[in-house]
Amino acid sequence: MCHNLIDGRYHTECRHFSPMATNFKDCQKPNCLFSRWHAHPTGCRSTHCIRLMSPPVQNPIRMVQKICTECSKMEREGRRVHC
Ligand SMILES: [Zn+2]
Ligand SMILES: [Zn+2]
Ligand SMILES: [Zn+2]
Repeated sequence: MCHNLIDGRYHTECRHFSPMATNFKDCQKPNCLFSRWHAHPTGCRSTHCIRLMSPPVQNPIRMVQKICTECSKMEREGRRVHC
């Protein structure tokens, strides 16, 4: 089945993954609705065709030894609220 491969950074401090780019991975099967190789490009009614995409796969292209921007923002806002 086709899936999206998400390139991104993995933040080791907060264990969050921040996506940077999404790449579509074609499974190249003629019975997959999402593939360029799908045998019935218009009006597919075949019950043998796959109508679901696999869950996206995270591809950490870089390890970052600090918290992500979301977490640092939350931390900053949290501090402002509590002070
Ligand atoms: Zn596919
Ligand atoms: Zn089909
Ligand atoms: Zn985070």
